[in-house]
This record gives sequence, structure tokens and C-alpha cells, in this order.
Amino acid sequence: MDCLFCKIIKREIPADIVYEDDHVLAFNDVNPKAPVHQLVIPKKHIATLNDIEETDLALVGRLQLTAAKLAHEQGFAEDGYRVVMNCNEMGGQTVYHIHMHLMGGRAFTWPAG
Ligand code: AMP
Ligand code: ZN
Repeated sequence: MDCLFCKIIKREIPADIVYEDDHVLAFNDVNPKAPVHQLVIPKKHIATLNDIEETDLALVGRLQLTAAKLAHEQGFAEDGYRVVMNCNEMGGQTVYHIHMHLMGGRAFTWPAG
């Protein structure tokens, strides 16, 4: 059974897609926590950050590069932005397909809480 994000990749569930290439998909978060809140995901299903393997290193780097590219395109790269990846229950993960939250358009505090 495919996870929610695999269904979005396969267009079985609609999403507001903002970027796609052979390896990565990015779409607007349905419950945004910032003026811009997008999720950057690998097309390969990887359940959690704990499941990343040596062979996934380029793919994981591509998530970061895509987030930075989207930040540049949307004009907040220089002002600054927040990227977050949550792992498992105590990390606040609710969808078990790794995703990088890209949030911009406002100031963020630290620690995130
Ligand atoms: P996390 O809590 O880190 O696992 O993040 C999961 C994110 O997925 C949350 O910010 C949700 O708002 C978002 N989300 C859940 N379902 C959808 C959906 N169908 N389309 C877009 N974003 C979603
Ligand atoms: Zn998946």
C-alpha cells in the first residue's frame, strides 16, 4: 500500500506541485505554517531519516539543493528561511515518507519548540 506522499507522486491524490524532476517533487503544504510552506520529497519512498542509506546520499543532497533553488526563485533566499525534517514520533513526524519542510516569508525563532 502506497503512503500518502507516494500517492501524490503518482497523482492519485491532488497536490499543488511547485517543482518536479526525475528524483524530487515539491508541493505546497496543505496546512501552511508560514507564508510559504512547501514540502520537498524524494520520489523514492524512504520512510524516515533513519532509513537513509549510503546509496541515497545524492538524493538527500538534491532535496536540500531543491529547497535552496525554490527559496531563490520565490525571493526569500537572502532574507532567510527555515528547513526542517522531522523524524519519528518525538520528532513530530506524521507522514512516513521523508520530506523537507521549506518555510519562508516570515522570521522564525529558535529553538523551534
Ligand atoms: P511532518 O509532521 O513533518 O510529517 O509533516 C507532514 C506535513 O504534511 C504536515 O505539515 C502536513 O500539513 C502535510 N500534509 C499532510 N497531508 C498533506 C497533503 N495531502 N498535501 C500536502 N501536505 C500535506
Ligand atoms: Zn511513500
